Amino acid sequence: MNTLSIIEKLKTEQNASREELVFLLENITDSEREELRRAAQEKSLKIFGGRVYIRGLIEISSYCKNDCLYCGLRRSNKNAVRYRLTKEQILSCCEQGHALGFRTFVLQGGEDGYFTDEVMCDIVSEIRRRYPDCAITLSLGERSEQSLQRLFDSGADRYLLRHETADENHYARLHPDIMSGARRKGLLCTLKKIGYQTGAGFMVGSPYQTIENLADDLLFVKELSPQMCGIGPFIPHKDTVFRDFAQGSPELTLTLLSVLRLMNPRVLLPATTALGTIHPKGRELGILHGANVVMPNLSPREHRKDYAIYDNKICTGDEAAECIRCLSGKLNAIGYQIVTDRGDYKSE
Ligand code: SAH
Repeated sequence: MNTLSIIEKLKTEQNASREELVFLLENITDSEREELRRAAQEKSLKIFGGRVYIRGLIEISSYCKNDCLYCGLRRSNKNAVRYRLTKEQILSCCEQGHALGFRTFVLQGGEDGYFTDEVMCDIVSEIRRRYPDCAITLSLGERSEQSLQRLFDSGADRYLLRHETADENHYARLHPDIMSGARRKGLLCTLKKIGYQTGAGFMVGSPYQTIENLADDLLFVKELSPQMCGIGPFIPHKDTVFRDFAQGSPELTLTLLSVLRLMNPRVLLPATTALGTIHPKGRELGILHGANVVMPNLSPREHRKDYAIYDNKICTGDEAAECIRCLSGKLNAIGYQIVTDRGDYKSE
């Protein structure tokens, strides 16, 4: 086995075996990383041109009934400041976002019991009514199939639910006993079946993660073939059990972005805020490694800092307009352009 032939195989066959992926991730040299990056960038340019899609992220609630060991919003974090947005606040974020050119709104939050199907369907259908030209993405954690179907019927188009780690034993070390990796992965299939454009994804460098785990994540994504895949480095939060664990590496995250692009050429792949948080040029580098989406924050400024899933999150002080100007400048500087388009998944 050698790394260059594995990179070649990823380019031509869009696949590799578990052993090959492990070998590649363990042995890749700097010059091979550059070769991999170039191939992934080329692939993404061929499919998307220099066009980067934007998604307006609206963080609707910092309440959560779950207790994921890595997340700052976990129920047992007594220091977390909890807030939830009203329907009016959410609609006003959409209004601002629409004026700034956003055609996708991502409503993300902790698993907050306040947002029942009734409450949530009312919000989704109102956004759908006001903005028929926009995509509505939900990222509200695990809900029943019936609930996901009702939200879809109310006008939601897409759902982001990272699988976090494909290995169920590893999943169990990151979550309390009542949560299950098998259930989470099953829900991803349910989402696809309902007709959502579905987003999976995983953290890079989460506690106890092995290179084999990452290979399994890549193979899981390949098999599921989701329309979107969000990956970002794990970043410790000071009020969680994992406060003393190291953060994920930017280099490994970038390598994985490139491998994902080669294995899943058309997948919508964000250069995440977490990547931008651990590296000053993280998001630009993400784009140069094959990503094609950025997700600026549209949440009301007064609540930004309280949606603290990890420490030192960037862009918590800026107005949405400022964020988009800044990001747009950064992307122009590397030869890319933000486009105001729904940016749907295209199968051909
Ligand atoms: N409650 C929703 C949204 C979670 S926040 C859900 O369960 O899907 C979105 C993502 O942030 C999570 O899926 C997780 O992958 C990531 N995340 C959470 N804590 C993190 C941390 N400490 N470092 C990096 N990413 C984190």
